[in-house]
Amino acid sequence: MRDVLPWREPVPLDGTMGEPRARGRFGEYGGRYAPESLVEACREVDEAFREAWADPGFRGALARLLAVHAGRPTPLTPARRLSEALGVQLYLKREDLTHTGSHKINNVLGQALLATRMGRRRLIAETGAGQHGVATATAAALLGLEATVFMGERDIERQALNVFRMRMLGAEVVPVTTGSRTLKDATSEAMRHWVGATGDSHYCIGSVVGPDPYPWMVREFQRVIGDEARGQCAAELRTGVPDYVIACVGGGSNAAGTFAGFADTPARLVGVEAEGGAGAARGRLGVLHGCRSLFLQDDDGQITEPHSIAAGLDYPGVGPEHAHLRDLGRARYVTVTDDEAVGAAVRLARTEGIVPALESAHALAWVIRAAGGGDLPAGSTVLMTLSGRGDKDVSTLKELL
Ligand SMILES: *Cc1c(COP(=O)(O)O)cnc(C)c1O
Repeated sequence: MRDVLPWREPVPLDGTMGEPRARGRFGEYGGRYAPESLVEACREVDEAFREAWADPGFRGALARLLAVHAGRPTPLTPARRLSEALGVQLYLKREDLTHTGSHKINNVLGQALLATRMGRRRLIAETGAGQHGVATATAAALLGLEATVFMGERDIERQALNVFRMRMLGAEVVPVTTGSRTLKDATSEAMRHWVGATGDSHYCIGSVVGPDPYPWMVREFQRVIGDEARGQCAAELRTGVPDYVIACVGGGSNAAGTFAGFADTPARLVGVEAEGGAGAARGRLGVLHGCRSLFLQDDDGQITEPHSIAAGLDYPGVGPEHAHLRDLGRARYVTVTDDEAVGAAVRLARTEGIVPALESAHALAWVIRAAGGGDLPAGSTVLMTLSGRGDKDVSTLKELL
């Protein structure tokens, strides 16, 4: 099955991945579809973020936190044995080596620092598998903030270890008992709770989704991945810029941060979604959680329950900027199955000594398939963001292998 858009030649180099247009629009996507009180709260976040992002003092403080607390810059690792087997030059951007083990810490430290600057004393967050919750609890502890994390009751049962981690870090974990008792419901509940707490709390969204300014702000906090990788590629690659830039896409934050560093180059951008959570590849226009974008829906427009073996890809939609990049033909969105992802995880473990998160293994699975099927021409240079480490997935893998 060919589920990808053809490249549009030449790849447009200008105007993509800058600031969104007025009211957070990326093409026809984005916006701020929220109750009145949250529209005002979002406006405050927008104003504070613009001011902070233009302030070298804020940027310097964040860069220092990322360096001394999160372990940045992360290395660019050539995957030598796997490259040889695939016939391409594969380089891995190692977000798995950050503190807490994934790129989520980049965004959370940015938002926590912004919350402090806004005089807020508490972070509110939603979490599915618990990765964003753990990152939020970590940043809150570091900066002396409180943290309240909303989590579906079913996810609480499935992710007991991360629930314990959050509590160990001092966060309050609030079980959500509505709907399917998973991430979508936790997000709705967190937004509802924020309505009554905007004065002293900052809502820390975990991906490039939600009402304006979140999709833009979270991408800016994640662009450190792409900016670092751009410099590392310039130093390491014969061509300076890779031919292909690949990342997995749940809501799309690690991909957006990676793509942002290469949007003005001829590099071809590929986002890899889970077969069962393919908002960009298969979603339809809709509004959810404050934002107009592509979502998995039934014929009545009801959001359908996604499924992926990788909890971080288990979101029924995709961020508005990805929907726009897809329409422009600037990025392609492809899907891989659970089985392909598991196979790729094992292969990376055995060729490079790295156990990846199952989310990141999706990106690798597409690289493996495309290198074998001619979608990645022999000799191509490929940059892939390895969004996280696989420790959280070992019990899932143990059941299967
Ligand atoms: C949460 C998560 C993702 C998916 O989130 P994006 O916003 O799409 O980046 C991917 N990889 C890992 C390791 C995650 O924890």
